[in-house]
Amino acid sequence: MKNKFYMIDLDGTMYLGTKRIKGAKTFIDYLLNNNIDFIFLTNNSCRTQIQAANHMLKMGFEGIRPEMFYTSAMAASDYIARTYPTKRKVNFIGEKGMYEALIENNFIIDSNNPDFIFVGLDRNASYQDYSLVLRSLVHGARLIGTNDDRILPSEQGENIGNGSVVKMFEYACQQEAIKIGKPHNVMIEQALRYANVAKEDVIIVGDNLETDIKMGNNANIETVLVTTGIHNMEDCYRLNIKPTYIVANLIGLIK
Ligand SMILES: [Mg+2]
Repeated sequence: MKNKFYMIDLDGTMYLGTKRIKGAKTFIDYLLNNNIDFIFLTNNSCRTQIQAANHMLKMGFEGIRPEMFYTSAMAASDYIARTYPTKRKVNFIGEKGMYEALIENNFIIDSNNPDFIFVGLDRNASYQDYSLVLRSLVHGARLIGTNDDRILPSEQGENIGNGSVVKMFEYACQQEAIKIGKPHNVMIEQALRYANVAKEDVIIVGDNLETDIKMGNNANIETVLVTTGIHNMEDCYRLNIKPTYIVANLIGLIK
């Protein structure tokens, strides 16, 4: 697997909250030292690339650069910009990572008459914020969901995930969202463009069968399930989602 381009998940694969997962740094150091290309592929739309890099550097990872991160917010913005080049007005729910991804594609933030409403997680969004974008959705703006995550695990327990917020909007405006993040095909297609790599050359590494591994399987891309996060080997049978390889620890990938 040395000649592969690695697309690596973050939460549950590199770290849990603010703690590095055993073997993760050794694995990244190995990739860097052997000039093996990789990017991090994350459904988290909150952090900018710089914030994502700093988050890992603070945990002790080394050699991590902002351009190594590709988020569901970036995929959403890139996909809509490419697919609807004449529609430039948007509004959004989201944090700095969502905002920056939209600005990167020169979208115009317009709360009066947007063509699209992007929904990424905003942990400070209010009833008024939601109602404001709902009015645009009811009047014809298209709903974009950066990711489907129902629940966001935290040290305090389960939190509402972005997918649950997107569902709320779907219910309120009776419109199905354009879905972007893992396991959806848009995410991997945009990531391949971003990394400028052919899917035959890629291997996806992640801890989640329903997002990381399912996306790889759907796209015919090789996958590695690492059982340091959400799913283990028994879950492969229970969910009937089979990765190409399973390792208990990313050190298992170093040959
Ligand atoms: Mg994960």
